[in-house]
Amino acid sequence: MAKPNDVAIYFDSSLCTGCKGCQVACKQWNELPAPLGHNVTEFSGSLQSPMDLNGDTRLIQTFHEEESGNKFQPINWAIGRRSCMHCTDAACVEVCSSHALFHDKNGIVNFDTEKCNGCQYCRTACPFDVPRFRPGDHKIDKCTACMDRLEKGGIPACVKTCQPEALRFGNRDEMIAKAKARVEVLKAKGFSKAEVYGETEMGGLHVIYVCKHGHEAYGLPTNPQKKAVYDSHKLFRPLGGIAAAATVAGLALSWISARKYHRDDLTIDEAKKTWTPEQQAKADAELKAALEEKEEK
Ligand code: SF4
Ligand code: SF4
Ligand code: SF4
Repeated sequence: MAKPNDVAIYFDSSLCTGCKGCQVACKQWNELPAPLGHNVTEFSGSLQSPMDLNGDTRLIQTFHEEESGNKFQPINWAIGRRSCMHCTDAACVEVCSSHALFHDKNGIVNFDTEKCNGCQYCRTACPFDVPRFRPGDHKIDKCTACMDRLEKGGIPACVKTCQPEALRFGNRDEMIAKAKARVEVLKAKGFSKAEVYGETEMGGLHVIYVCKHGHEAYGLPTNPQKKAVYDSHKLFRPLGGIAAAATVAGLALSWISARKYHRDDLTIDEAKKTWTPEQQAKADAELKAALEEKEEK
């Protein structure tokens, strides 16, 4: 479970104006490039742009709209935030054979780019489909809660830039209390589906949402679960490093298939197509070292 000194990002959907300042601040602070040029991003008909996360985009604001039945305000807007949730029970950390993904002492799920081998198992395991592959350097990228800013006593860039204070940052317990109080206000105003999301999901998230229209309206899963690849890794766990390295090297592919391994978004073969010869060599070396270590025991 989350610890008393953990921190969290607070997001209040009822205060968000959809300005996307947070998206821009994330790009700017983390030096993530955006495509430039006339019509390089196809118009989707939605205010949401880009439509999904990618290797250079750690955060997007999401836009869902539905008819309200109220002629004075005919559309209900559900403006959400899509980024890493910093799970306490983080599937990405558990499947990362390179130990590139790890929990920081404040509960945030951080990563070491140098250690990432680009295998993308973290993406396949994540219940929120968050980590993204960056073809340029064959690494995974995702939100770090701006750890470099936190280490200097600052707050995340997205939070810093949010004018209506839809985003806040602080002690996780305090953010939860704040969210619960806000939900009570919204319910009193007639938003009967208003609720807090993140207090208990995945052992406790470190992004706490106030969902004005209920979590489904923001595309947040009810009772999120680690994806199937996680179970396969967990079964491997008693074998220690061998299992993880074997999976990275692709040698466990048939074993996984035999257990009806299933992935919605990305197959192992698709992920392996992105591997460079250097990554394959690194994975093979990890496997060899793990096997030798096992033999010595
Ligand atoms: S900066 Fe604040 S108000 Fe603007 S889109 Fe982001 S969360 Fe919403
Ligand atoms: S949301 Fe996904 S990437 Fe983020 S900590 Fe949870 S499992 Fe990992
Ligand atoms: S905390 Fe930092 S890395 Fe995460 S979404 Fe906000 S600006 Fe981006």
